[in-house]
Amino acid sequence: MKPDKVFYEPAALNYELGKQLKEKFKNVDWLPIENHNNIEQLRKNPNKEFPSMKRHLIIGVRKSLKYVPNHKVSDFLVPYTSSGCSAMCLYCFLVCNYNKCSYLRLFVNREQMMEKLLKTANNSSKDLTFEIGSNSDLVLENTITGNLEWTIENFSKSKKGFLTFPTKFHMIKPLLCLNHRGKIIARISVNPEEIIRKVEFGTSPLKARVRALNQMSEAGYKVGMLIAPVVLLGNWQKLYSELIEYLADELSPRTKEQLFIEIIFMTYSFVHRAINQEAFPQALDLYDQTLMTGRGRGKYCYKTEARAAGEHFLREELARKLKGIPIIYVV
Ligand code: SF4
Repeated sequence: MKPDKVFYEPAALNYELGKQLKEKFKNVDWLPIENHNNIEQLRKNPNKEFPSMKRHLIIGVRKSLKYVPNHKVSDFLVPYTSSGCSAMCLYCFLVCNYNKCSYLRLFVNREQMMEKLLKTANNSSKDLTFEIGSNSDLVLENTITGNLEWTIENFSKSKKGFLTFPTKFHMIKPLLCLNHRGKIIARISVNPEEIIRKVEFGTSPLKARVRALNQMSEAGYKVGMLIAPVVLLGNWQKLYSELIEYLADELSPRTKEQLFIEIIFMTYSFVHRAINQEAFPQALDLYDQTLMTGRGRGKYCYKTEARAAGEHFLREELARKLKGIPIIYVV
């Protein structure tokens, strides 16, 4: 990503990473802000400006380092070095939190975040797993900051604990030669190529993601795969059947040996609809009244029968074509 403008908290320039970013993007305008959470001039933009706002970069200092307990693939969700993203998936979960201001924010106080991670990991009686990518895509972020490389190198010195992150990107080459000491669980998110093209704007193609998954596993990383989010378009059976067939053919034996699968059905919302209709008037409308129902606070999810049919289909296809690979949860 090459930003068109950088909005920054002046305090960010007191940090090493802040200085490096200032040098790296010295040819674009740097506009001072008081608080990365509330940039009035961007907040007031109409929804149609959503894609152009995604070209901005926001740089600040992360204030809250509070961990949230989690019980899926990790013990804690950790606020880490970024939130938001420069890609534009039509269902992006970040839009629920940040509305149209879900652009990429980078936080420069990474030493402080690492110190807390190491302390929490090493003070625990058991090996804890920390989810560091629940608020952004760290593989994408790494192309700008090098933070994921820095994180793996620093956390690998820890006596205890694991880090995990999901990604929809393939740019993992700089991670392959790192001494990760088996402490990192990389989880690649996949979807049928047609859904990637029509819904997950700005993310990596399926082929490149699957290649990245095999490369990470070859480099000794622990790996997982998310089929997420499952989007029930008109021809969903055909799309997901072909996806699973493709995975069965392309995942390497080494990847299959240690892989686990997470399945997440799409949730959508009133806010997504409002932004997408104005920002991407030609795009698919993901809201399907016949299949979806309200789930409180302007959110929609698939109706029980539609979701059950989807889950049954996916479980059957996976059992046939990727036999033995555990599905650790379906939500
Ligand atoms: Fe959101 Fe992930 Fe898509 Fe980025 S890649 S827009 S974080 S869903």
